[in-house]
Amino acid sequence: MPDVLEVENLRKEYGDLVAVDGVSFAIGEGQSLAIVGESGSGKTTIARMIIGLERPTSGRISACGNDRSAPVRAAGKRRKRGREVQIVFQDPYTSLDPRHSAETAIDEVLRIHHGWDAARRRERVAELAGLVGLDTRQRSVPPKSLSGGQRQRVAIARALAAEPKVLILDESVAALDVSIQAQVLNLLADIRDATGISYLLISHDLAVVRQLTEQVIVMRKGSVVERGATGTVLDDPQHAYTRLLRESVPRPGWQPQRRISALPVGDRGAAPVPVR
Ligand code: ADP
Ligand code: MG
Repeated sequence: MPDVLEVENLRKEYGDLVAVDGVSFAIGEGQSLAIVGESGSGKTTIARMIIGLERPTSGRISACGNDRSAPVRAAGKRRKRGREVQIVFQDPYTSLDPRHSAETAIDEVLRIHHGWDAARRRERVAELAGLVGLDTRQRSVPPKSLSGGQRQRVAIARALAAEPKVLILDESVAALDVSIQAQVLNLLADIRDATGISYLLISHDLAVVRQLTEQVIVMRKGSVVERGATGTVLDDPQHAYTRLLRESVPRPGWQPQRRISALPVGDRGAAPVPVR
């Protein structure tokens, strides 16, 4: 099975801070991988490097066999990368244009990535909006007239419009109410079954991780401390840090740091890093 995403020895420094420190993983076609770890462990930085918003200090990234370790300026190459990997952030308010309805937002992506005429695009807009469960009103109003869950559906439809091989979900359901969250998770599971898309799921919620991924890496202070099959790692964690994550109750802004500082010194990770 070919890998749709490969990350090798990825590193990102911000001045003296090593935000991501030698991270490697691969996602096979149709497979999904989760990154879990406390706030500040480097998860979003990895996502930003993969989609080209940050340049790695060192290491290699490739998607669908194409290297993307260095940023590209040329519009054509950027488009090609966009067709390989898309992302949905935690708060779609910041990624959706406040002036654009769902229909306009989805159509924009179709225009960029596919050479289709207006009629074909209209048809596909309707399909995608239907797929994520937006009704007629919700399709035609600006984001401010939608609920958080509805906005997240727009962001998902918009990302899917590019027909990416990999969709990165960075805490994409974390801000939603529990019942809405369950609906969006079911939607994501259905989309995966229907399309064979791969997810790179960033989440602090281990129930979400269990539902959507086969593999997991556990990050702490930029490094991977544990990895393996999701069920195995979550049911029988080998690292004390993973056990703490499992015992912690997930909630927004969750920081198990205080409990981590109570771990035996050998389990706290290599370098002493100030508590954030
Ligand atoms: P996570 O997503 O796991 O919460 P992040 O990847 O956002 O963690 O951040 C990892 C570390 O890198 C944090 O210490 C954060 O403060 C730092 N960081 C992230 N982005 C920047 C930036 N643009 N400049 C400086 N430091 C950053
Ligand atoms: Mg983050």
